[in-house]
Amino acid sequence: MLVLVINSGSSSLKYQVRDVAAGSVLTEGLIEKIGMGNGGDGDGEIEGPRDHAEALEQVGAAIHAELGDLELGAVGHRVVHGGERFAEPVLIDNEITRAIERLNPLAPLHNPANVLGIRAITRKWPDLPQVAVFDTAFHRSLPEHAWRYAVPDELYTNHGIRRYGFHGTSHEYVTHRAAGLLGVPVDEFDGVIAHLGNGASVTAIRGGKSVDTSMGFTPLEGLVMGTRSGDLDPSILVFLGRAGWTPEDIDTMLNRESGLKGLAGNNDMRSVVEASEAGDAKASMALAVTSYRLAKYIGGYHVAVGGAKALVFTAGIGENSYQFRALVADKLGALGIELDAGLNSQRSKEPRVISTPESAIPVLVVPTDEEQAIAEATAAVVHPSTAP
Ligand code: AMP
Repeated sequence: MLVLVINSGSSSLKYQVRDVAAGSVLTEGLIEKIGMGNGGDGDGEIEGPRDHAEALEQVGAAIHAELGDLELGAVGHRVVHGGERFAEPVLIDNEITRAIERLNPLAPLHNPANVLGIRAITRKWPDLPQVAVFDTAFHRSLPEHAWRYAVPDELYTNHGIRRYGFHGTSHEYVTHRAAGLLGVPVDEFDGVIAHLGNGASVTAIRGGKSVDTSMGFTPLEGLVMGTRSGDLDPSILVFLGRAGWTPEDIDTMLNRESGLKGLAGNNDMRSVVEASEAGDAKASMALAVTSYRLAKYIGGYHVAVGGAKALVFTAGIGENSYQFRALVADKLGALGIELDAGLNSQRSKEPRVISTPESAIPVLVVPTDEEQAIAEATAAVVHPSTAP
């Protein structure tokens, strides 16, 4: 089945046409500056549509130009927030669209754009099945002791303030592939998955299900990321508020100016590693803070899953930065984890083991592929018999 995967942001729209069975990308593209332009200037660069509907007209034209008359089987939408309701991908109808819209306050930058994308497709291709695949859904299996914050109950009951967790599509996909690589049934897989990209989160997996995850009410909590602080003492925010910082100032500082960027002046792991190797003390400190924080989480999640049987690295940094993986593994001696330096530094796009045979548990690198995961989930909802 051919699935159009849509990742709709407030001013951008990423798309891919996927052949689900082959796992291949037939065409892909990115439309930017939605709402900022006047319909594009026709020089080959697609840019500047007036709204999401016009952006989708451009997607339709680009797909047609590239692939001719092909039969799309369904559209799969990456939807950031599924709140407490959505524990798995769903076939979209008007009621589901309204339910996603009601979650807008929980993801004010993302869900409204997802809804615009869904409505635009409904108008353009009314007969095409659409499926919502939620970034939070995989974490609906968290037990209450993991998702509760120790604040007055009314914050949860009146405002929905709890841990939701994100990157769920990636964590689930990588869980399945890691279990496959190790030859264990997925429902017997106990491990820790570190998704380390520009955004980063770590998830504790027990019996193939998420039982804890480092991102929380928003994607800010947890690990040190490219530009996000991750965990910090909440009183710092009170302190800054009293010192005159506005909520917007604090939001910008924590989400856009912190993390590697705040510590080392650069949010790109490659540059930070290079600077550290060239003797830049701030870059080395940033790597030490970032790897230490992750190692602490891995230790904590080893406990959460009752003894992890594998540690898995994925996403841009997790898949590519052998230096960062080594820094983390160096701090995990207490768990008996030992990397094979040769295997760790090999470059490959394949899922692989990078630990020594003596390591107490295997350490894996498993490339993630969120678009393929969304395409597979979409196909499985539309035609359950195609489920992998
Ligand atoms: P993602 O958000 O998954 O695309 O990951 C982005 C992060 O991965 C950035 O910090 C990049 O510097 C990092 N990254 C991508 N490729 C490499 C590489 N070859 N070596 C080290 N880090 C990389």
